[in-house]
Formats: sequence, C-alpha cells, structure tokens
Amino acid sequence: MADKAEESGPKPFLRIHNISKHFADVRAVDEVSLDIQQGEFFCLLGGSGSGKSTLLRMIAGLETATSGHIEIEGQDVTNVPPWNRPVNMMFQSYALFPHMNVEKNIAFGLKQDNWPKAEMDARVQELLDLVQLGEYGKRKPNQLSGGQRQRVALARALARKPKVLLLDEPLSALDKKLREETQRQLVAIQKEIGTTFIMVTHDQEEAMSIATRIGVMDEARLIQVEAPREMYERPANKMIAGFIGQVNLFEGKVSRKGKTQTITSMDTGSLLEVVDNTKLEDGQVVWIAVRPERVLLKTNPKGRAANKANGKLTDIMYLGGITHIQVTLDSGSPVRITISEHWDEDEAKLKLGDAVQISFEKRAARLLVE
Ligand code: ADP
Ligand code: MG
Repeated sequence: MADKAEESGPKPFLRIHNISKHFADVRAVDEVSLDIQQGEFFCLLGGSGSGKSTLLRMIAGLETATSGHIEIEGQDVTNVPPWNRPVNMMFQSYALFPHMNVEKNIAFGLKQDNWPKAEMDARVQELLDLVQLGEYGKRKPNQLSGGQRQRVALARALARKPKVLLLDEPLSALDKKLREETQRQLVAIQKEIGTTFIMVTHDQEEAMSIATRIGVMDEARLIQVEAPREMYERPANKMIAGFIGQVNLFEGKVSRKGKTQTITSMDTGSLLEVVDNTKLEDGQVVWIAVRPERVLLKTNPKGRAANKANGKLTDIMYLGGITHIQVTLDSGSPVRITISEHWDEDEAKLKLGDAVQISFEKRAARLLVE
C-alpha cells in the first residue's frame, strides 16, 4: 500500500520508511514504516524498552538510522542534522534554564536565531497566552508549579514554529490529577495551533484520551496503527487486546467455519460463535476476545447454548458509576464483567457464591489468531 501511495497521490506529511536502529547487537527499532498526516496528534505507545524513544529520536535527528529513511513534506531528512529539521523535541520541565525567567526561557531559541526584539517580544507574549501563563513571564522556573513549568517547556519548544513537535513521556513526572488536566491542555493547544504532535507514552489511557491515532510498539516493531476507538474494537492480537483496556480471552479450537465461525473452547466449556471472515483451518487454535462491558450476566443459569457458560459469582467491586464483577466459570476460568447501567432488582440481590450464567452476542466478540 505504501508503495502505491509513493507512485501516485499526495505524499504524506511525515513518512517513516522501513527504518531500523541497531545498537551493537540490540535491535532498538526494527523495520518500522509509518505515515503521519499534517495536524495529527499521534501517540507511540508501548512498554518499556519497546523502541519508542529511539524512533522519536530518529525523527528528531538525535539518533542516526541504521537503515531506512524519513521524509518530511516529501523531502528526505534522513541525513539532515537535527537543527536543520523542521522538528523540535520537548524535553521535560527540568530542562528549563533555572537562572532565566519564563520569558527568557521561551525566547531562548528566538534569540539564537537573532529575531528582532519587537517580533520576539510579540511571539513570547503569544506563546505565554497560548499556554495560559500570561501573568507569569517574569517568574523563575522555581517559582512555578510542576504543571506550569511543563507549559513553559512546551511554549519554548513551539517558539520557532516547528512543523512537528516531538514529546517523550512529557507528563510522566506529574501526579494523576495534574496529568489529566495537562493532557486536556495539550490537546487544546495542539488543536489551536494545528501543529503535528508525536508523543511517546507507556500509558494506554493517556494515549486513548489524547491521540488521533495510536501506534503500538512491541520489541522494536510497530504492531498496529489505528485510531483509539478502532484499536479498542479491533485489536490485532492478544497483546494489544490486553494492553488497550481490559479483555476476556477464551482459547479454543476451530470447529465450524463460515460467516459465523464456531470455536470449541475449554475455557468456557462451551461452543463460542463469532462473526468473522478470517480464513481458518479446522482445529486451529484461536482466541475469542470479549470486553468486560459486552458480557451479560443472568441470575438463573438455565440450559446450554453457544456463547453461554455457567459459573459462580466470585467478586463484586462496586465503584459508584460502574461495578466490576468476576465470575468463575464451572471450567475454572475467570470472567470479568463491567456493568455501568442501573442494576435491576434481581441483580441488586446478587451475592458472592451465587450461581449465574454469562453470555455475549456473537457480534460482541473478536476472533484473534495470535
Ligand atoms: P522505550 O523508549 O520504548 O522504553 P528505547 O527506545 O529507549 O525504548 O530503547 C529500546 C531498546 O534499545 C532498549 O533495549 C534499550 O536498552 C536500547 N537502547 C536505547 N538506546 C540505547 C543506546 N544509546 N545504546 C544501547 N542501547 C540502547
Ligand atoms: Mg523511552
């Protein structure tokens, strides 16, 4: 598909083509290809050591690619030094100059570029307003809160109007509440200025709430690229299904193929049906993924049918708006269920140890082959 796009049509804003980075015998990034459009807020998501920072640093030019190339607006920048790329990296707030006030910190790059004073002052004011620090220009970094310092770092990184802003776990030092507030501010600022943002995070909730698209990395490879909702609905494999949100995975063997594929599962002790058009082999081992909010709970377990299984209620965690329930099936497998609506009267009487039946619609399930 990438090759076709290369022949015709407009070029993507940022094209990463088959890029790898090896450190001696460590493959930090392995043959990653990725197109990012102008104005995206793209999140690179993955566990520690999966290669996210190395990929970001190659986009910045701070790391030389072992092979492959990077294009920005159709121009090959693979061998362009970082200072000549239309890209900037935002470092964490502690990279502010402690002896300079906020204005001077933000103006630093502009001064190096010899901007005329009037223009520089106007730009600094514009940036202060953008990050809602209009009144704080004369303060030193140590007179600011962690969140405010973060916003100064952001303003400084945006000062020279980079076409792409790279952010490597910029919020990881902030506590949960401040972090969520800062996430919202980041999204608002990015929308306002329309600059392409690429952010690294290991926090899936952060990626889900911020990103226009998410790229999941695992062991140096880019596994799946998708908008948050699509990634949640259609994870490419078990790892991503479990990484993006919670999931019930039932292992089974293919017993009947067709538009509705039927799996015999030891995990549920029943037949499972799923609507899916993947080509499968008889007897192939596959997994059925069902999100906790798609599992239905019944209080009177009766009969046997596909996508149903009987068990006992083994945990109830009431959290106000939602309730988490665990059912242990007769097969021994645990199933998580999330209920967010009002419980009806029968459900409200449920207690640990009660016999229950779980079920799910065949369209609520996803078939995974790896
Ligand atoms: P992430 O940001 O996803 O945590 P990194 O990109 O920092 O991962 O690292 C990916 C892999 O490359 C890790 O195994 C890491 O140890 C290795 N690595 C990163 N930078 C270097 C380096 N300068 N020298 C040697 N190995 C490195
Ligand atoms: Mg990193």
